[in-house]
Amino acid sequence: MSECKCYVKAGITEGVRASWRQLVCKELPLYARHEGAPYCVLHYPGKDKESDFQEAIDQKLAGEDNAFQAVYFPLLFPNTLVGWLSPERLNKRARFAGATFEAGASFFRTTLDYAGFTGALL
Ligand SMILES: [Zn+2]
Repeated sequence: MSECKCYVKAGITEGVRASWRQLVCKELPLYARHEGAPYCVLHYPGKDKESDFQEAIDQKLAGEDNAFQAVYFPLLFPNTLVGWLSPERLNKRARFAGATFEAGASFFRTTLDYAGFTGALL
C-alpha cells in the first residue's frame, strides 16, 4: 500500500501536513496537481472536481468520519451534499480547521458538539 503524498494545503508546516494527511487523506489516491503540487480529491483546490469530490465526501460520511481539515469545498456548503446535515451525522465532533469553503457555508440550525474552524476560510 502506498502512502498518500497529498500536499494538503499551502502555508502549513510539514508536521501539520503529515497529521492532516493521516486524518483526512488516509488512503485516497492522488487526484490532480495544482501549481505543481499533488493533491487528493478532498484537498485539491479546484472547482472542476465536483462529482468526484461528492463521491469522496459520501464515502467519508458513510464511515462516520468527521475529519475535514484543510478540505477544499468547491460548492456551497452543505446544500449539494445529500444527507450531510442529518443530526445523527453532525452531532459529533466535526473538524474543519484550515478548510476552504469556496462558495460559502451555512450552518443554520446545525448543532455541533464541537467544531474546529481554526484557520478556515469562510
Ligand atoms: Zn489530501
